[in-house]
Amino acid sequence: MAYSENEIQEITTPTRLHTRRQFIIKSSVLSGTLAIPATLMSFVEFDEKNTDRMFDVIIVGGSYAGLSAAMALGRSLRKVLIIDSGLPCNRQTPYSHNFVTQDGEKPKDIADKAKQQVLNYNSVSFHEDVALKLRPTGSLFELSTQSRAVFSAGKVLFATGLKDIMPAISGFSNCWGISILHCPYCHGYEVKGQKTGILGNGNVAFHYAQLVSNLTDKLSIFTDGKAQFTADQYQLMRKNNIQVVEQSVQSIVHDKGKLSGLVLQDGAVHPLGALYARPAFEQHCKIPVELGCELTEQGLLKLNTAQQTSIPGIYACGDNSAFRSVATAVSTGSHAGAAINMALSTENFNLK
Ligand SMILES: Cc1cc2nc3c(=O)[nH]c(=O)nc-3n(C[C@H](O)[C@H](O)[C@H](O)COP(=O)(O)OP(=O)(O)OC[C@H]3O[C@@H](n4cnc5c(N)ncnc54)[C@H](O)[C@@H]3O)c2cc1C
Repeated sequence: MAYSENEIQEITTPTRLHTRRQFIIKSSVLSGTLAIPATLMSFVEFDEKNTDRMFDVIIVGGSYAGLSAAMALGRSLRKVLIIDSGLPCNRQTPYSHNFVTQDGEKPKDIADKAKQQVLNYNSVSFHEDVALKLRPTGSLFELSTQSRAVFSAGKVLFATGLKDIMPAISGFSNCWGISILHCPYCHGYEVKGQKTGILGNGNVAFHYAQLVSNLTDKLSIFTDGKAQFTADQYQLMRKNNIQVVEQSVQSIVHDKGKLSGLVLQDGAVHPLGALYARPAFEQHCKIPVELGCELTEQGLLKLNTAQQTSIPGIYACGDNSAFRSVATAVSTGSHAGAAINMALSTENFNLK
């Protein structure tokens, strides 16, 4: 049986944590035995019975950010376990935009292609599960999951994204990501020139108005209660022909997520083709905060320039700690993968 280039490198590259597979391959090479069982040569799908549970890196979250990190780590021969619960924040949006090479693709197609490419690296495994608890044990971290599996690794990367909290407005959650939009860069072009609303108040709504007025001149702000703008902001909005509606929003009129208007407090329907909103959010995964990782004022994980949280050995990337876009998730994921690999390489090198 011939070794692939990756496997030869894996055998000859020292890693601090040896897996059972690496150990058997190494022993076979040292004893001159090349007859390695085929099951040990293709370590892609995670198999609870046949693999040990020790990894160089565990990545919690297997969407764009986590997969991007896994690619950098897999290409560096690291033994990586990705644990993913299959609930990315953009799962309801039909098409994703503004990520070069994938503009207009379905979000799941982009993630599936990334997953397929990442799992070409034999040292990377993917496990569908929910990570529940992380416990430091000496120089390692022990992670337990909903399916009662327990895994260990020296480094843990959280690529767990954010969870948007839908406001209690009937129809809002049905339209989220379809005709209620969070980002003009992602979906603004598709609704340019249409009668458009912004659901928000104060500085956030004003900032949206500045951005969105570039895409349409038929713009209204729905403050869903008393407006909170400065005199200067009012003056600028008047000059830009932006209407401010102070009534509370009762419900959204829609057909399968495609909105056609907002029902206001007085029962009147305000016709619209699109609505921008920025709902409240929380960390999708509570583990980093439970562990004591610091948050920014905005509720994102606080990181250093190597994507490390305030707890050594715990890293983060993607939406949980950065600007929300697929491109940024991929970029910060790649950066995290490289930073973790550099940390492992330095540790191993200096142990010699
Ligand atoms: C409605 C909507 C539409 C969008 N449209 C666009 C667009 O067109 N273009 C664009 O560039 N960006 C868009 N975005 C932003 C983009 O989707 C995000 O920036 C991107 O998904 C972030 O990637 P991520 O990997 O950080 O997080 P996510 O994609 O949210 O993935 C996080 C993953 O972690 C998993 N996870 C969380 N907790 C656990 C746990 N405890 N155990 C196991 N797994 C866990 C989740 O199941 C999920 O699979 C949109 C966002 C939204 C909300």
